[in-house]
Amino acid sequence: MSAPTLAVFKLASCDGCQLTLLDCEDELLTLAGRVRIAHFLEASSAVEPGPYDLGLVEGSVTTPDDARRIREIRAQCRVLVTIGACATAGGIQALRDFADVEEFRRTVYARPEYVETLATSTPVSAHVDVDFELRGCPIDRGQLLEVVTAFLAGRRPDVPNHSVCFACKRRGTVCVTVAHGTPCLGPVTHAGCGAICPAFGRGCYGCFGPSGSVNLPALIPLLRRDGLDERDVRRLLRTFNATAFDPPGRDTGADATDEEVRP
Ligand code: SF4
Ligand code: SF4
Repeated sequence: MSAPTLAVFKLASCDGCQLTLLDCEDELLTLAGRVRIAHFLEASSAVEPGPYDLGLVEGSVTTPDDARRIREIRAQCRVLVTIGACATAGGIQALRDFADVEEFRRTVYARPEYVETLATSTPVSAHVDVDFELRGCPIDRGQLLEVVTAFLAGRRPDVPNHSVCFACKRRGTVCVTVAHGTPCLGPVTHAGCGAICPAFGRGCYGCFGPSGSVNLPALIPLLRRDGLDERDVRRLLRTFNATAFDPPGRDTGADATDEEVRP
């Protein structure tokens, strides 16, 4: 029986998550023996036509062509997994969702009429069904290997959706918020990085996106207590996973006044 085929696709993104796959140097040869890499333009220009058994998609949907391509990709892949903050949450380019994209287009490009773009940057799951979403900016290589291994074994990936705080406790890191009053998004951020930032004495800034249970109304008063004003809280929430943490039009409590957050 021939090995299952793997295809890797890119929409609007920086290529960092695809690089994570290439970074699996020690495991890549073993992996290459278990799956046939049929489409991975970052690694090879040799492309086999679909259908594919497993498709990994990096990047968000920001153009009409992306919206068309992702439907084609979905139709070609038996199992579709999105990798990274762009594909799972719209990425940092979703900051356009809070602004006037036409103004950007006019200001940035000399010939804006040549640029076709959508007003929003949306995750793949807003357009097609997705079998699994792997978070991170970029993704963690251990979690990526777990996703591919689980696919080969025919089971669900063992990627818990608990918060970075769990990872802090597990590695014995002293909480930077409790010990030093450092603002930290760890309580609402998906684990996966091994709680790197608190281990080096700084707060988490949420690059893995929302965990399985987010309670911003409980966290925001702590961030304000630790010195962030309304603008700082907004800026902390609106980075790589802006529209996942603080979607336009939803009241997440980020604009709470001093009176409202005072215990
Ligand atoms: S340092 Fe941050 S992530 Fe770690 S336990 Fe404290 S609040 Fe949670
Ligand atoms: S910002 Fe948070 S999720 Fe990202 S690497 Fe640092 S601790 Fe991990």
